[in-house]
Amino acid sequence: MKRARGKHSTGAVDHHDTIEAALADALAGYGVTLTPRASGRFERFDTPDKPKGNGNGWYRIHGPQAASFGIWHLDVSEVVTLHGASDPEAAAQARLDAMRDRERQERERQQQAAKTADEARRWWADAGPGDPAHPWLAGKRLPPYNLRQRGEMLLVPLYFEGELVNLERIFPDGSKRPLKGGRVKGVASLIGRLAGAERVLVAEGWSTAAALHEAMGCPVVVARNADNLAPVARRLRQRLPDEVGITICGDDDRHLPAQGLANKGRVAARHAALAIDATLLMPSFCARCETCTDFADTRLCWLGGGRGQPYAYLA
Ligand SMILES: [Zn+2]
Repeated sequence: MKRARGKHSTGAVDHHDTIEAALADALAGYGVTLTPRASGRFERFDTPDKPKGNGNGWYRIHGPQAASFGIWHLDVSEVVTLHGASDPEAAAQARLDAMRDRERQERERQQQAAKTADEARRWWADAGPGDPAHPWLAGKRLPPYNLRQRGEMLLVPLYFEGELVNLERIFPDGSKRPLKGGRVKGVASLIGRLAGAERVLVAEGWSTAAALHEAMGCPVVVARNADNLAPVARRLRQRLPDEVGITICGDDDRHLPAQGLANKGRVAARHAALAIDATLLMPSFCARCETCTDFADTRLCWLGGGRGQPYAYLA
C-alpha cells in the first residue's frame, strides 16, 4: 500500500473548504475512499490492502479545523488541519487516544460476550429437547440430534474452548441468528462424540453436519459459516490425536460465480483443508437440479424431497 500523493502536513496543500474534505483527501492518499463523519468520536474504516471488515484504519474529527487519522498496520498517524499545519505532537497524542479507545471497545466487547455467555447457559439449561416435528427439521427431514428448543426456536449450542458461550437460534422459517453480543469467532458445535472416533468431519451449517452424521456415523463439527471453517479446523487438529483423520466437508456455492462472485464455500473448504492437511469432500450434484449447494440439500434430493436426482448422495 503506497501513498499516492504528497503529505498534507508538510507545507503547501490543496485548499479545502471543510475539514471533512481535507480529511477525505488525505485518506485518498492511502487509497481509502470514504465520506468522513464529524461525530467527534473515533470512527473505524477498512483499509483496501487487507480483507473486508479489517477495521485497521481510524479517524476522528476534532472540530471544524482539525482531524486525525491512522492506519495500525502501517504505523501511520497523522493530523489534518484546514491549513495544512504540521503537528507531530498532536499526531502522537491522537494515536495514543485512538489506542485507548480501541482497548476500551475491546473490553466492552468482552464484557458483553461474557454476559451473553451467561444468558446462553441459562437458556440452554431451561430448554427442552428439539422437537422432531419442528417445521424446519421436518422440512430438512432431519432428527434434532444435539439441538434443544425454546418456544419455536431451535437452539444450536456453540462452544469455545470447551465452554458453552453462545447459541444459534434457528427460527421456523429457517433464518438463523446467534445471541446478540455473543462470541462468534472460532465457536463450533458438535454432533456425535469425539471420544474414540477415527475420523471427524467439519462442515459449515448444522443441517449439513446432521446429514453427514446420519450418513457416515462419525462425529461432525459445525463451524457455522465459511469464514469459521479454517479457525475451527485448526483448533480441532490441535485437540485431536494425530491418528484421527479430519475431513472438511464443504458447501459448493456454485450459484455465486454466475453473479461474478467467488465460490465462497468451495474456496473456504479448500483453504481449511490445506491449513491442516485434511481431506476435502465436496457434494456431487444431482441431475436436473440447480439448487443444491450442500450435503443436506443433496440428501433431500436423494430422499425424493428435493427437485433433482443425485448421482450419489455420498459415495
Ligand atoms: Zn439437488
